[in-house]
Amino acid sequence: MMERSAIARHPTRPVRVGDVVIGGTAPIVVQSMTNTDTVDIAATVAQIQALAVAGSELVRVTVNTAKAAAAVCAIRATLDRANCAVPLIGDFHFNGHKLLADHPDCAQALAKYRINPGNVGKGSKRDPQFAMMIEQALRYDKPVRIGVNWGSLDQALLARLMDENAKRATPDSADAVMREALIASALGSARQAEDIGLPHERILLSCKVSNVQDLIIVYRELARRSDYPLHLGLTEAGMGSKGVVASTGALAVLLQEGIGDTIRVSLTPEPNGDRTKEVQVAQEILQTMGLRSFAPMVTACPGCGRTTSTYFQELAGRIQIYLRASMSAWRAQYPGVETMQVAVMGCVVNGPGESKLANIGISLPGTGEIPVAPVFVDGQKTATLKGDRIAEEFIAIVTDYVRATYGGEPATSNLRPAAKSIALKALA
Ligand code: SF4
Repeated sequence: MMERSAIARHPTRPVRVGDVVIGGTAPIVVQSMTNTDTVDIAATVAQIQALAVAGSELVRVTVNTAKAAAAVCAIRATLDRANCAVPLIGDFHFNGHKLLADHPDCAQALAKYRINPGNVGKGSKRDPQFAMMIEQALRYDKPVRIGVNWGSLDQALLARLMDENAKRATPDSADAVMREALIASALGSARQAEDIGLPHERILLSCKVSNVQDLIIVYRELARRSDYPLHLGLTEAGMGSKGVVASTGALAVLLQEGIGDTIRVSLTPEPNGDRTKEVQVAQEILQTMGLRSFAPMVTACPGCGRTTSTYFQELAGRIQIYLRASMSAWRAQYPGVETMQVAVMGCVVNGPGESKLANIGISLPGTGEIPVAPVFVDGQKTATLKGDRIAEEFIAIVTDYVRATYGGEPATSNLRPAAKSIALKALA
């Protein structure tokens, strides 16, 4: 039988961000970013808490003005009082050197500074302002992410590389020079930070672009040339399914090659949409690739002409929502429950087979089939449900399985095939 091979991670030096380790052998970290006005302390705290509850292990906030810098300290204190320990990252552009120097409480409250080398200052101001930010990182013992972005690439560096390229006998394409400029900006700035005194193991890198193929080429090269932990993300991924698909396509290729120590999925939410969607997508990318487990997964068939109604789609959705909603309580109580697989299938063609592969599976009746739903637990048929309360009874079986399997609690229903109580009750 062909075995699945484990993904070998690209070796990187671990960097500590608050209590979270990024890189080395640490699990790949999920992070996100708020889109509230940081000055609005209540709204920002609420969104950070929602992101943290959804599973974001780090949250980045915009620090763009003196008022925003002043708000960071209050945000951190409010989170601490609410027992929300998620580390905060400050996102700085243009005036970060000044904000960090003028707001020591902000500099202290943040667990990491994101520095965009294309936005730290122009001309002769660039190096001293960059140095000022690194000096604050040294003063407050913080790591930094050198976060290059195609949309704000250091134009002086790009122009110099373009000029050098034009003089070559066989010049590279403009796209190739752009990619090299991104990489050179990140690596050159990291070297500069180390020259100022920042230890190697306090630096992370990112080079975000919005094109999938460019992102893959750039990160492969970054990984080849350095051992800094890499923050992966497709910038400006977009809205809805386009954003999800583009991010997944780009990140999956790199993660499969062992590249990437922390990920962020940059989705554009609908107006007033749920910001936690980006956390859920990031978790699902890692979980479906077998890299981490966050919540039980539901395997559901797409449905076809054999399904008599939308009942099984509703049941699959209901189960998925129930499992996700239960995770905040289950996580500590039932360790390992996040690896559970639940199958909800629309008919007997693939239903029993897929159900047997899951921890728990149900196969609903298709068109023309006897209106009963066999339930499989650990590969064995244990019950046959029918009637109006199939959903409730199946959820009860799932809950009982979680308690018995991951909590060692006695099952209130017999989950083994020998016991027929649930089946008999359902059939009564
Ligand atoms: S399991 Fe049945 S209902 Fe689902 S897609 Fe396959 S044939 Fe169709």
